Amino acid sequence: MKYAIFGDIHGNLEAFQAVLGHAAQQGCTDHVCVGDIVGYGANPRECLDLVRQMGCPVVKGNHDEEAVLETSLEGLNPLARQAMEWTRAQLDPDDRAFLKSLKLVRQVRDFTIVHATLDTPGSWTYVTNKFDAMASFSYQFTQLCFYGHTHTPRIYVKGDTVEPLEATSVKLEMGRKYFINTGSAGQPRDGDWRASYATYDAPSQEVVIHRIEYDIQTAQDKIIDAGLPEMLAHRLSLGK
Ligand code: ZN
Repeated sequence: MKYAIFGDIHGNLEAFQAVLGHAAQQGCTDHVCVGDIVGYGANPRECLDLVRQMGCPVVKGNHDEEAVLETSLEGLNPLARQAMEWTRAQLDPDDRAFLKSLKLVRQVRDFTIVHATLDTPGSWTYVTNKFDAMASFSYQFTQLCFYGHTHTPRIYVKGDTVEPLEATSVKLEMGRKYFINTGSAGQPRDGDWRASYATYDAPSQEVVIHRIEYDIQTAQDKIIDAGLPEMLAHRLSLGK
């Protein structure tokens, strides 16, 4: 069984379709989503539809949560507020019910999925170094966990110590734990504009993070045409 694990899609349909196409070529049979299906991009509903059609396990991201709240967006910066107001206006009652139903943490077969961290999943804090990863590892009861939220692919390994790997693939070893950020499908922020996602081949115990080119021009044009802030289109090319 081979899984495609993706998240931080953020309404970028072109990137999401490219990821799914690549995953099919890789022989993936199962799909898993680590959250933030909506927010920023111009196709939140289309991305939601794809996720629902696949019936794949999903956990809730902070944008998925924010999109269905009725609270004021005053605390957000103007860019995020404008994008979130637009996203909220797109969703219908079924979309909102689906997003509300999502859990913060799930176990899928022998691995766990979460959007932000396992130690405080609903606080939306960021794992940006090995100390953050260590805190999350103390709540990780499976050997393998996938997460997102930082929009930066990263593999943390816990043996005697916790260290990030430089590599973009890893073969799981007995006695070690792995906390793996799939990177962002729809809005990467590590300086590489290409869509990011992970595959997990259960029989060979291998995880690989992939980078996929997609039709970024169309995704950017749609953002402009929707009247969303231009910066949201521009940042896609920068990978920031
Ligand atoms: Zn995100």
